[in-house]
Amino acid sequence: MLSNEIRQRYLKFFEKRGHTIIPSASLIPENDPSSLFTTAGMQPLVPYLLGAKHPAGTRLVDVQKCVRTGDIEEVGDNRHLTFFEMMGNWSLGDYFKKESIEWSLEFLTDKNEGLGLDVNRLYVTVFKGEPSTDSGQENGIPRDEDAIKYWKENFKKHGIDAEVSSDETIKDNIRIIPLGKEDNFWIAGQTGPCGGDTEIFYDVVGNGSVEGNFQDLVKAGRIIEIWNNVFMEFNKTSDGKYEKLPKPNVDTGMGLERTSVVMQGKSTVFDTDIFSELLSYIKSNSTNYEDKTARIVADHIRASVFIISDGVVPSKSEAGYVLRKLLRRASDSINKLNLNLRLISHLVDIVIDANKNNYRNLFDKRSIIVQEIERELEKKHNIDLGVDKILEDKFDEFMQSEHRTPMRVRDHIPGKAVIPAQPFIPGSLAFKLYSTFAVPKDKIIQFAESKGYVLDLQGFEEEFNRHKELSRAGSEQKFKGGLAGTGEQETKYHTATHLLLGALRKVLNAEIVQKGSNITADRMRFDFNWPEKVSAEKLKEVENLINQKIAEKIPVEMLELPKEDAQKICTVLSFDLSKYSDVVKVYKISDFDVEFCGGPHVKNTGELGHFKIIKEEASSAGVRRIKAILE
Ligand code: ATP
Ligand code: MG
Repeated sequence: MLSNEIRQRYLKFFEKRGHTIIPSASLIPENDPSSLFTTAGMQPLVPYLLGAKHPAGTRLVDVQKCVRTGDIEEVGDNRHLTFFEMMGNWSLGDYFKKESIEWSLEFLTDKNEGLGLDVNRLYVTVFKGEPSTDSGQENGIPRDEDAIKYWKENFKKHGIDAEVSSDETIKDNIRIIPLGKEDNFWIAGQTGPCGGDTEIFYDVVGNGSVEGNFQDLVKAGRIIEIWNNVFMEFNKTSDGKYEKLPKPNVDTGMGLERTSVVMQGKSTVFDTDIFSELLSYIKSNSTNYEDKTARIVADHIRASVFIISDGVVPSKSEAGYVLRKLLRRASDSINKLNLNLRLISHLVDIVIDANKNNYRNLFDKRSIIVQEIERELEKKHNIDLGVDKILEDKFDEFMQSEHRTPMRVRDHIPGKAVIPAQPFIPGSLAFKLYSTFAVPKDKIIQFAESKGYVLDLQGFEEEFNRHKELSRAGSEQKFKGGLAGTGEQETKYHTATHLLLGALRKVLNAEIVQKGSNITADRMRFDFNWPEKVSAEKLKEVENLINQKIAEKIPVEMLELPKEDAQKICTVLSFDLSKYSDVVKVYKISDFDVEFCGGPHVKNTGELGHFKIIKEEASSAGVRRIKAILE
């Protein structure tokens, strides 16, 4: 079923049940300075959900254009887009949970009027309630037993005895998963109308054997959220009490693109009819094709077309700036794909032609849209050319300098930067290009390679860390009073990261490597390959082992070794050493953890204080994330 058919069926289904079809509001919110874009169908209707009378009545249905800038980094995964359309049906003090749940399941499963989806692949979450606070200030909300009851009744119509999960795992007949406030509760601010919601998910694989932690299955993209029904039934008062509203509302949101995924038997939004023409055009014209990069181009061009059609042009601030950023990111991806810039106007045409019947302003503004996009991409292209010129100039300068003949490792003077024996660009030069001329790191690496040189990445990182610490130390001097300096604190976290990896490999599995790490003065974050949630007991064991190693006051040794030797003594290699210079640094904490690393580190584990894990969660499929602090 094509996306336009889904749209039509949705509108008709609810029209037949007494809803008035209303048009999408603009992507640019009116009279709402608090947000740059319309992010949900609910947003333009807030005044009516708060009690104002809507001219079209108490039952409405629509398809709302949405832009979520917060999801830009997610674009390329199987379900997040910058621009998407949200279908919604609305009860303004009219029907409530019973009808909402009944119609939802009916629309999803009915073959004639609805989507005819396989009921066996549907899962729903409900609000699990909230206990009253210890102080008694908030009076709490019970679990949504009504929603559970109506879901059971409606699943039963299909012969399914739906069961409720007690611990967020699903298997067998479990269809209903109660979740807490973070996931299943809606409130606009601190006070006002609010309520729990029920979210509907579909198993995109559907071979009948879904089992495991529900949230993990969602994060891994196996089960995706397609519809969200909010039951606005309380008013939260300023003293923290939830009072029942006399006339509750229903507010639902169903992503058209995600619904197309499940209707077309695909596993990503990019494989649906909505993106097929865009992506096949990109693919057939790119000489360096890569899926994710192509998806970014398609998404960003599509979003830009819609944003411009609602009156925004690229600029230095607000919505115009978001548009500029989108187009600049699109441009970088266009370059990566080796896609000719002149072909982009054809992508714009594809988007306009596919949507002009639903959004007349795309048709009316075609020439403005093409012109603005071309102009902005052209501008970015010239900026990129400027970067190339800088690189060429600096490289020439460098070739004429004293570094022209690379030093050999044996000429290395202790305490000075390590100079490898192959043609290379030293980290200090790369850092200068980066910090003074804003040349992106990838660009420097690419350029160096095109000239047959390698970039001393390790040297670059060292230079980068040193400068970061210097500038932080400078700007935060005044806050220092007694506390360790920012740089010092970060150094401690660097060392704690090694202890954490060492401990995970001992407690969980010796195959664990680092998949990512991020350190600030206040905490560390560490990603590693592991397929499932780490139990509280195991986490405690990891924590204890680290604190034991801190108590042992082990010296942290730094060795500078040729790559081959480093490879031999490291207990773990999380990185591909071929990208680094010939001689690398290795940090050794007895035999507990020996790692290739640019540093810096503390001199002794005894300096770290007390190590504490504050969170363990999924980061992406097969990768877990630990957040920890030093107290
Ligand atoms: P997720 O957790 O997957 O990001 P969400 O909780 O942010 O989803 P809602 O705010 O409930 O989603 O939005 C309602 C519906 O809109 C979702 O069920 C989904 O179908 C769709 N949707 C949300 N964000 C996106 C997006 N970035 N791209 C495409 N569709 C989306
Ligand atoms: Mg989201």
